[in-house]
Amino acid sequence: MAAMRLLVVEDEPKMAEAIRRVLVAERNAVDVADDGVGALAFAADRDYDVIVLDRGLPDLDGLEVLRLLRSRGVSTPVLMLTALGSLEHRVAGLDAGADDYLPKPFAFAELLARLRALARRAPDLGGERLAAGDIVLDAVRHRVTVGDQGEDLSAKEYALLGYLIRQDGRVVTRQQILDAVWGTEPDVYSNVVDLYIHYLRRKLEALGRRDALRTVRGVGYALSADDGGSR
Ligand code: CA
Repeated sequence: MAAMRLLVVEDEPKMAEAIRRVLVAERNAVDVADDGVGALAFAADRDYDVIVLDRGLPDLDGLEVLRLLRSRGVSTPVLMLTALGSLEHRVAGLDAGADDYLPKPFAFAELLARLRALARRAPDLGGERLAAGDIVLDAVRHRVTVGDQGEDLSAKEYALLGYLIRQDGRVVTRQQILDAVWGTEPDVYSNVVDLYIHYLRRKLEALGRRDALRTVRGVGYALSADDGGSR
């Protein structure tokens, strides 16, 4: 499988190092945070394929970290680790927005299998090269580039831009975007599409292509490479 970029949030140094070593041996890129505040900082700074989140952290409860991540729009799949394997705790973790739950102690083979399954659920554009004119989506680094300038994209911005590029200039409705990018995810805010269009537009603006992403009043959105004067 393709290498993943993972964030491991674990305060127990031996456990953190053991997980890190196993993941790196599988050619994944791994960052380690040893508390909740550190985890939030990492997650704000970079996009991960999966986050491994220990429930018992010295500063914040892992559940609280998870809630904060979700409230900040981080939709990265989260595998929660815990010494508390009871049904009650499992339900609490899943309710808070965890995608999977693994009680300690666990076998590393099981951890790896679950992480692979979670990464497969994430949007994957399959390495196709997607571009609208000079606006190019870099599938390896999750960036949008125009010429030699680029902007990093979050997972949802990346999926949204990929979807819009594949429409080849056609106007799509909010609902079509919601279905394509958010699918069956529960508890999606009603204005989430507008919010992400706004994020994406800011990044295109930084690349001098703000007008490429058009709002079609009462209908939806369209992306086209036409920069308003060259065609
Ligand atoms: Ca712990």
